[in-house]
This record gives sequence, C-alpha cells and structure tokens, in this order.
Amino acid sequence: MFDSLSVKLDRAFKTLKGQGQITEINIASTIKEIRRALVDADVNYKVAKDVTDKIREEALGRDVLISVSPGQLLTKIVSEELTTLMGETNVPISLEGNPNIILISGLQGSGKTTFTGKLANLMKKQGRTVLLAACDIYRPAAIDQLKVLGEQIGVEVYAEPENKDAVKIAKNAIKFAKDNGKKTLIIDTAGRLAVDEQMMNEISDLKEAVNPAETLFVVDSMTGQDAVNTAATFNERLNFDGVVLTKLDGDTRGGAALSIRKEVEKPIKYISTGEKMDAIDLFHPDRMASRILGMGDVVSLVERAQQNYDEEEARRINKKIRKNQFGFDDFLAQMEQMKKMGSMKDLLGMIPGMGKAIKDIDIDDDSLKPIEAIIKSMTPKERTQPEVLNGTRKQRIAKGSGTSIQEVNQLLKQFEQMRKMMKMMNKSGGKRALANMLG
Ligand code: GDP
Repeated sequence: MFDSLSVKLDRAFKTLKGQGQITEINIASTIKEIRRALVDADVNYKVAKDVTDKIREEALGRDVLISVSPGQLLTKIVSEELTTLMGETNVPISLEGNPNIILISGLQGSGKTTFTGKLANLMKKQGRTVLLAACDIYRPAAIDQLKVLGEQIGVEVYAEPENKDAVKIAKNAIKFAKDNGKKTLIIDTAGRLAVDEQMMNEISDLKEAVNPAETLFVVDSMTGQDAVNTAATFNERLNFDGVVLTKLDGDTRGGAALSIRKEVEKPIKYISTGEKMDAIDLFHPDRMASRILGMGDVVSLVERAQQNYDEEEARRINKKIRKNQFGFDDFLAQMEQMKKMGSMKDLLGMIPGMGKAIKDIDIDDDSLKPIEAIIKSMTPKERTQPEVLNGTRKQRIAKGSGTSIQEVNQLLKQFEQMRKMMKMMNKSGGKRALANMLG
C-alpha cells in the first residue's frame, strides 16, 4: 500500500541526510521533492502545495535536537502534517436509533457490498445483532452476493427480489429489524458505473425515507483523483457522514486518502484492504500517515489480533505448552487463528520496515496448504505423539496429503524444534530460550 509514495518520500528525505541542520537552502529541494511525490500520488496540486508550505514552515521553526538527524525530524514533521490533513483522529460511526440504520452509498464496483458484509461482521463481533438489507433493485446478482456474504458471516439478509421499489424494501427491512430485535440495520444500495442523475435521486430519496443515523460513502481508492470528484458529487446530494476507502491493498498511489478529507470536509471512517471479510480497519489518520511513510502500522495489527484472537483458545494452548503437551492439533488450531487475521502479506505489511521489503515479493497464502494437508492426514494419536511416526506411517501421510516424504520430514523436524523451544521456555521461565533465539 502506498509503496511508490513512500519510496519517493524516502528519497526526498535522503537529500537531507548528512546535513547537520535544516536551513532555508538545504530544505528547498527536499520540499520540492516531497511536493512532487504527493502530486505523483494523485494528491491535488493545491492540497500538496498547502501541506508542503506548512511542512517547510514547521521544519525551519523547530530546534534540531542533537539526538535526531534533520532527515528524521523532517519525517516526523511530514507525518504530523499528513495526519492533520487527514483529520487528526478517528471519528466513530453513530450507533443511535432503534434500529441503528446505516446507509451505504457509492458507485458500482467501489466495494459497497463487500464493505457492507465486513461492517456487519465487525459489528457482530462487537456483540450487536445485525440485519442486512439488499436494496439494489437493478442487479439480482447483487442480492445474491449479499446473501452469500450474510451466510458466510452468519448475519441475516432481508431481500425482496421481485420488488422494484427500494424505499419500500428499506421500510419493510426496518420493520423486520424491529420485529426481530435487530439492533443495527445496514442497507446496501444500487450503484452505477458513473454518477448519474437518476441514481442520485434514488439514493437521496432513500436517505430521506429511512433517516439513517449514519450515511457512508464507499469509494475505490485506486481511482485516484476521480475518487475525490465522485466524493464531492455524492456529498453535495447526500451530505453523507463519512467515507470508506476500499482497495487500499492494491497498488494505489494514496492520493485519495490524502485529499478526500480536505476536499469534502468529511472524515474517512473505515478502510478496506482486501476481499476477505476481516480486511477492515478503523481509519486512524496518524496510523495512515505512518503507513504512507513506510513506518508500519503495529497498532492496527495488534487491534486485529485482539478482535480475532480467541482468548479461551490462547489459554488452552498456553496450558498445553506448560505441560509439554503441545501437539499437531494445537499447531493446526494456531494456524487457523492466524488465517482469521487476514492474508500473510497484509499482516507482514503492517510491521515497520516490512512494507517496503515485501513489496515485490509474492507471498502466497496457499504455501501453508501442504502443512495443513500433512497434519490432516495424521491419525489423532500421531498428532499428539509424533514420536510414533515411523517410515511406513510417514509414507502413508505423504500419500494421503499429496506431498512427499521430504516435506513430511521437514515439518516433523520443525515441529520438534518448536517443541524443544517450548520445553526450554518452561524450564527457564523464557529467559534462556529467548537468549538462544536471539543467538
Ligand atoms: P459494489 O458493486 O460496490 O457492491 O462492489 P463489490 O463489493 O461487489 O466489489 C467489487 C469488487 O471489488 C469485488 O470483486 C470485490 O471482491 C472487490 N473488492 C472489494 N473491496 C476490496 C478491497 O478492499 N480490496 C480488494 N483487493 N478488492 C476488493
């Protein structure tokens, strides 16, 4: 995400490296580079100029501390200014109303329906009862898509495929939500490929009729400056409450995230970073600035872990490790937990410094599949007591899992090392094992 922008900014900062101080003269070319990097990333020229003027002013006004280099100081200032540009803090969505109605708007293909599912999933995890309403009266496929998502996340979907009146469907959905004790109703609406008058009329009629607590505008961040223009048009008609930026996992230049807030004066509330149902994060301007600058986003990573990690399961595993009973079943369970948090590349990209390092590497989530297959081909006894695995058993497992004896052996070796490490941690309270790990 934002790779080309962060690489360019990095280069701009490098021009300051080795300089003892920030001065009018040595900062001029760096500021120009930063401005060019922003414009290249699709940030509107005026916005880029305003922000770089402020960066320059800040940089010249600050005392350079002995402990930081001018380059580091400038990185910090840029990060602060980008944060301000994107709105300082996260603005939560409104949970008012009974049911609490959330209306989702945006162009076709922006990721509306996917986001609708993700938001429902997130709210469900937070303990709210959710109903989804399919109000796309033009594309029967959209109704089916929402139903599939609903099934996947275990959330009920209200639809009337024969009804061509979106307002009526929405009103019936409200009644259904009330009758069935659903606290939140999320309404997915019809989009068009481009802004058109009829669509605008429909969505604004819908908004007027259902009076939602929250109207969100979903926009594909890969559409760059167009995203900003579309946002402005929707905002004029709908006066929405917040923006959802989707497809931030793609090769986006990031300009949309930086300009939308400034242009429409509405906060970005969520970001979407993949097709899976858990690839959703609250938008935090400071964390986004860190991502743009390639500084990673550990806080979001931890939050995702908290949302998806099962505490009960963690305690159970811990107990097993303490008793030296950690087996392949537990290993498999841990892998499942990891997968729930998102794709590997996504997760690794949030670690500081990793984003750039793995930018061009294709990390395939399927690479874990053989391991899973091997474990699944083991008998319960083999899973808890891998010692019993002799040549014949290994051969059977390799055959059953469609792998080779070598692969089975390799996994067994890795697993044995892991168990040894766990044993050592138990004995020394972790310190010695850690020392060993660090070499
Ligand atoms: P809608 O027409 O606005 O409802 O858009 P959809 O939800 O159907 O999404 C359009 C396409 O974009 C689908 O193929 C989605 O899987 C994909 N998509 C949605 N959100 C994301 C995202 O955050 N990242 C990526 N990579 N793909 C996404």
